[in-house]
Amino acid sequence: MLTTPDFTEITPSAAIQKNQHGNRAKCLQRLIRLDLPVPLTVALSFDTVRAIAEGKLPDMQSLIATFGKDTLLSVRSSSEMPDWGGPGTVLNIGMNDEVAAQLAKTHGAMAADQLYVNFIKCYAVDVLRLDADMFDGPITPRLAKQYFEDETEEAFPQDPSLQLAEVLRSMARAWDGTTARLLRQAQGAPADAGLGLVVQRMALGIGQGVSGSGVIQFVSGETGAPQIKGRYLAQGQGRAALREEDALFITKDARGPSLEDVAPDAVAALSEASKLMRRRLREEMQTEFTLMNGHLHILDAVRVPRSALGAVEIAVALANDDVISRHEAMMRIAPFSLNQMLHRQVDPATQRDVLTRGIAAAPGAATGKLVFSSTVANAMAAQGEPCILVKRETSSEDVRGMHAAQAVITERGGMTSHAAVIARGLGLPCITGANQLVLDARKKTLTVAGRRIFHEGDLVTVDGSSGELLVGAVTMVEPALGGAFASLMEWADEARDIDIRVNADTVEDVQTAEQFGVDGIGLCRTEHMFFDPARLTLMREMIFAEGSDDRAAALERLLPMQRADFTDIFKMMRGKPVCIRLFDPPLHEFLPSDRDGIRALAEALDLPVSKVASRIESLQEYNPMLGMRGVRLGITVPEIYDMQARAIFEAAIEASKGAEPVVPEIMIPLVSAAREVELVKSRVDQVASAVKAETGQSFTYRLGVMVETPRAALRAGEIAENAAFLSFGTNDLTQMTYGLSRDDAGRFMSAYVQQGVFVEDPFTRMDTEGVGELLLLGAERGRKTDPNITLSICGEHGGDPDSIAFCRAAGFDYVSCSPFRVPVAKLAAGQLSLSDK
Ligand code: PEP
Ligand code: MG
Repeated sequence: MLTTPDFTEITPSAAIQKNQHGNRAKCLQRLIRLDLPVPLTVALSFDTVRAIAEGKLPDMQSLIATFGKDTLLSVRSSSEMPDWGGPGTVLNIGMNDEVAAQLAKTHGAMAADQLYVNFIKCYAVDVLRLDADMFDGPITPRLAKQYFEDETEEAFPQDPSLQLAEVLRSMARAWDGTTARLLRQAQGAPADAGLGLVVQRMALGIGQGVSGSGVIQFVSGETGAPQIKGRYLAQGQGRAALREEDALFITKDARGPSLEDVAPDAVAALSEASKLMRRRLREEMQTEFTLMNGHLHILDAVRVPRSALGAVEIAVALANDDVISRHEAMMRIAPFSLNQMLHRQVDPATQRDVLTRGIAAAPGAATGKLVFSSTVANAMAAQGEPCILVKRETSSEDVRGMHAAQAVITERGGMTSHAAVIARGLGLPCITGANQLVLDARKKTLTVAGRRIFHEGDLVTVDGSSGELLVGAVTMVEPALGGAFASLMEWADEARDIDIRVNADTVEDVQTAEQFGVDGIGLCRTEHMFFDPARLTLMREMIFAEGSDDRAAALERLLPMQRADFTDIFKMMRGKPVCIRLFDPPLHEFLPSDRDGIRALAEALDLPVSKVASRIESLQEYNPMLGMRGVRLGITVPEIYDMQARAIFEAAIEASKGAEPVVPEIMIPLVSAAREVELVKSRVDQVASAVKAETGQSFTYRLGVMVETPRAALRAGEIAENAAFLSFGTNDLTQMTYGLSRDDAGRFMSAYVQQGVFVEDPFTRMDTEGVGELLLLGAERGRKTDPNITLSICGEHGGDPDSIAFCRAAGFDYVSCSPFRVPVAKLAAGQLSLSDK
């Protein structure tokens, strides 16, 4: 029977596997293969460490014998992936009276005493988990041993194999601890992830001549720029150089003495070693080294820890230097990490005074003064004062206020509530579902149980990446989009095989999206064009119109405004497809809800307040999201869609002048029956004929359907008879499939996720089982009617890598997402097609 060896000496040809011995063991073998001066090292496999945790030790005598008598040892953890963590390193194992006496002769009594005390402390505190307090104050080895014995009622162990056994046992068990388990699972480690250990002969760093230890890297982890970083501590061990004030710089430095001053050859050798590692390990490494009487030893090397920006810069530089392929560079970047580059972030080093937490609905961070209404937000913006808009929830009325604010926080809502969707489009940090906040909009106060009351004007910081609301201002890190980012996007474009469109409602959105490069607009929500004060009044006139003629007159005045918006957008997109969704929200969203607003509207319309109030009342619905909105409004008040269709066609003619002909896409929202599509189509066709006749110009257009109700997905076969495309609006489709309000789900979402009812918020990560099945059914039935029908999603899931994978596997033509999610979507799409190849 083949048995796994207890341990394996790491030699160039030893059978060391990353998935059996861990990442560190494999990396050390690579360093040894490069002939770098690595001290003798032995690897313990995952199986061996598992056995140790269960009480079965390897053959300790032969393990110790591998290193020879009186050798001090270190043990380091070696998990499969560096991010999965592992127990901390233990140094100087094997220290006892005898070794201390020898060291005193060769290295001096002070050094020997220091090493011995350090080890006794580390053994007691880190290995046996005794209280650190007992070692407080200056201490000698004799005293340390005495304290140890007082506490444990046993003498400090002198047998190196016993010490090593205890260290191995403690590290093996630490891996099974709850915190360690949770931490690595948060990094994506499987439940049964193993731990390997490496035992290494110590290169002491303490002794005669130039002796000490240090850490060095040749690139900045923050920016990815070439830069020699690190410190060196004379007569020091491990990573102490990074903690000690009096550690030396590595190269000549105006701030103080450097290693280069005392050991230029060692610095040159480290630089050579680093170049070799970069080329052969195909990575920027951070090296832990020791000098013993001027001789260099390389103990360990890990990937340089890096920020999102650093990761992109390093990967692209490695590809540009032909160290790795472009494909590999792309695969090395986690798509979501790009979010950190696109937005200003809270400095990770900053102290956080967290007031409350909610759903991290839109990334980035901003500081400003608290305001409780959009009106005040606008006033603040006019004075150039940064502000943070806090509301129970937002509605269309707040869009202008959101434009004016630096960030938004809502007590209610979730990932696809109004505030979240708009904020992501605008690139504003946003927290939704902050349900521990107690808001009093009248008194203009905000309270969190047990904390002080905040008033309008108080300074707060919204961290939309973590979902935390912080007290006061904090240090920020600015976004950075350099050449490396552009290269990465270019490579992703070359690799991907699914189109990425953008959800863009305004010229500003299109500008943002164009900076990242997109294949078209997948969703232009036209209602957002009506909130400009001049247009809002006209909109209200239209809503209050007594008859069809009055309504037509109001719409007639809105027409040129819509036409101008569409013309601008078509021109900016230069022939790329633009999909415009016809009017979707319930009309009452355009009406004022408070007394002042009603009075102002009555004045503007020259109507009695009572009439205005009762008209508003009559438009109220118990459940507006399931009421008179979308295509239902289009069928009952058809003049609105007529106006929009005309604006689109006239704009298409205008934008086609001297350019590629624009083929507009018109999308009907909230469809649930084929007849709805027939009715709208016949009117849109009539408008098209009229515009052609009036202008003498010809044009083509595509009419499609937004699949947002389960019934539309189920009846996609007959709906497809009159639709050139089906675009799944997964926000509403998720809401309707679950019967779960996208505006209220924030209240219980975290409880649901915590208890495993939902694996994740289905408004963030697409529910591929339920909602996904409707997508597949709809796609299949639609394709049966028309094999060439264009398929896509345009809900917020369009920016989520897993949902993109789902749509790509289902053969969809494109996904469409908010402007700031485009880079994430592009990279995710590129990676998917690369992994297939
Ligand atoms: C949707 O429902 O998925 C969608 C994109 O439309 P909206 O978010 O505007 O309802
Ligand atoms: Mg919708």
